[in-house]
Amino acid sequence: MHSDVAYTLVSQEAISRRVAELAREIAVCYQGREITILAVLTGSLVFLADLMRYLSMPLQVGVVSVSSYRSGATRPLDVRFTIPLTDDLTGRDVLILDDILDSGQTLTALCALLDEQAAASVRTCVLLRKDRPDLPQRMSVDFVGFDMPDEFVVGYGLDYDNRYRNLPDICVLKCHAARSAGRPGEHA
Ligand code: 5GP
Ligand code: MG
Repeated sequence: MHSDVAYTLVSQEAISRRVAELAREIAVCYQGREITILAVLTGSLVFLADLMRYLSMPLQVGVVSVSSYRSGATRPLDVRFTIPLTDDLTGRDVLILDDILDSGQTLTALCALLDEQAAASVRTCVLLRKDRPDLPQRMSVDFVGFDMPDEFVVGYGLDYDNRYRNLPDICVLKCHAARSAGRPGEHA
C-alpha cells in the first residue's frame, strides 16, 4: 500500500467485479442499441477504460473536461467546461460517465448542456455515489457502482492535486483521514 494511504475503501478486486456487473446492467438497458459514452475527464479515465471493454454493443466515446472550484469546506461555486462538447449528439443515446457523484453540480450542469442537444436519450453513470444526506434534492443517477460515505478518496483515476490517479484501489489518504470529508481545492 502507498505510504500516504490511510486505508482502502474499495479494493481493485471489488471494483473489477462491480464494473463488470455495471456493464451488464447497461447492456440490458440499451438492448444492443449503439450508445455514445461521454466521459468526464480526468477522474473517469480509468473507469471508462475498464467499463467500455466489458460492453459489447456498438459504441462511440467522447470526452468533456469539467472543473469545479472548491476551497476548504465550501461547496463548489463554479462549474467550467474546459473541453467543450463538440460532437453532434443529435439522435444519439448518450451515457454520461463520471467518477463520483458528490454535490451533483457537475452532472446537473452537463445534463443541462445536453438538454440543448437533440439527443435521443441521456443517462448517467457514476462509479461512486457519496452519501450526502444534507442534499436531499441532489440529482439522481441511472447507474451507480458503489455508494460510499462522505470521505475524500483517491485512486482508480481519482486524484488529489493531480496525484494518486494510478493507485489501483480507491483509498483515503492519511491527510484526509484525520479530518472528516476533506475538501481540497481543485480537482476534476
Ligand atoms: P460534484 O459536482 O458532484 O460535487 O462533484 C463531482 C466531481 O468532484 C467529481 O467528478 C470529482 O471530480 C470531484 N470529486 C468529488 N468528490 C471527490 C473525491 O472524494 N475525490 C476526488 N478525487 N474527487 C472528487
Ligand atoms: Mg470529475
